[in-house]
Amino acid sequence: MSTRREFLKWTGAAGAALTLGGFAGAARAAKGSHVVVIGGGFGGATCAKYIRAIDPNVNVTLIEASKQYLTCPFSNLVLGGLRTMDSITQNFDALKTRHGVNVVQTTATKIDPGAKTVALKTGKTLKYDRLVVSPGISFKWDAIRGYNERAAEVMPHAWKAGAQTTLLKKKLEAMKNGGVVVIASPPNPFRCPPGPYERASMIAHYLKQHKPKSKILILDAKDKFSKQGLFQAGWDKLYPGMIEWVGGPKGGTVKAVDTKKMVVEAELDTHKADVANIIPPQAAGDIALATGLADDKGFCPVDPKTFESKIHPGIHVIGDAAIAGALPKSGFAANSEGKMAAEAIVAALRGEATPDVSFVNTCYSLIGPEYGISVAGVYRLSDKGIAEVEGSGGVSPKDVPDDFRAAEARYALGWYKSITADTWG
Ligand code: FAD
Repeated sequence: MSTRREFLKWTGAAGAALTLGGFAGAARAAKGSHVVVIGGGFGGATCAKYIRAIDPNVNVTLIEASKQYLTCPFSNLVLGGLRTMDSITQNFDALKTRHGVNVVQTTATKIDPGAKTVALKTGKTLKYDRLVVSPGISFKWDAIRGYNERAAEVMPHAWKAGAQTTLLKKKLEAMKNGGVVVIASPPNPFRCPPGPYERASMIAHYLKQHKPKSKILILDAKDKFSKQGLFQAGWDKLYPGMIEWVGGPKGGTVKAVDTKKMVVEAELDTHKADVANIIPPQAAGDIALATGLADDKGFCPVDPKTFESKIHPGIHVIGDAAIAGALPKSGFAANSEGKMAAEAIVAALRGEATPDVSFVNTCYSLIGPEYGISVAGVYRLSDKGIAEVEGSGGVSPKDVPDDFRAAEARYALGWYKSITADTWG
């Protein structure tokens, strides 16, 4: 428990520096400068909002392809029947009306880092002083033989919330009692390290009530996974015998799929699936790749203090697309990075020094409606880049009474409310 107290101490300190009020008295304005933000997810929306909060004289244009934003956080709960799609839908109204962000609903098609311009699908071109790129992830479609965008209509990834989530849910609803759900979990690095295992838990919750003879097989490219001991203890308690995990060393890496035969081919065995959820290996969002912001592994190297690209100066890459040291690819981390980048950008526009940075992340996962677990940490700059502050967090303890897990499940609901309000509210 002392680690939790330490964590609160650290987050308390970091949080004080991050409240909107804390920025209000900030110094000179960077009047008339223009920041363009690509992507209105956790990273981009936060950054746009906080730049305006730090300095309302900066003009901020947010380019977002979708009219509304559906959060991946809690999309697994939709599969479990605990949430509706409506309840994970956010809009951009408050960013426009309360924070004065110019939200443009279209796709950014091309960035010219030399001319400092962004071309839009509408035909318009925007000039920027600083650009923020927070496009999330793209999928490495060539990594699993037979798995491409068309195959994803039969074997959904559901790793971007929206139509894919609904499709996976429908497939689970149509499956017979006694069916096999195969989940393919990708290699590191990928969006939301605990996500595939929370997904297995939420699908198990649904199956236990409606199709209790069914099984879930997780084929994993990795030899271990986030919060593994806690997940597996939760599965034993709530869903005994229902979930099987096959890690990389036991041949878990998925090599190929056949959507006609509904077959998933792993390194050692071939598995017949009634429902297949294939989560492919990932890279930074397309616009980051097309602009040459990524390295040969597909993610974007940045200065850990400012999140400015190491490849194209003047462009800040945040969220899942960035290489952010020990910070995981999570919505909470993207929100935290958005705030730090906002501070760095305003400082640069004013010709001031970049303030010190500190990041925070908490990831709750639900194993059942009243069974939550979490991992939390505070992160600071070290000589190795962004590193976790020792003793600042950690995972939930093992062997605790049921009411402890129930309390963590309640905290997860509170977390969702506050992070979405902080990002889009
Ligand atoms: P995104 O949130 O993906 O936002 C990118 C946005 O950019 C999108 O809205 C997209 O439309 C837009 N865009 C992309 N390209 C363009 C373009 N060219 N022009 C205009 N717009 C563009 N994180 C947590 O912290 N807690 C959780 O509990 C959690 N649960 C998860 C569960 C699942 C199943 C999954 C898949 C993820 C989960 N995550 C969770 C991770 C979280 O969703 C991501 O880390 C987060 O969304 C990253 O934010 P981002 O801003 O980098 O990208």
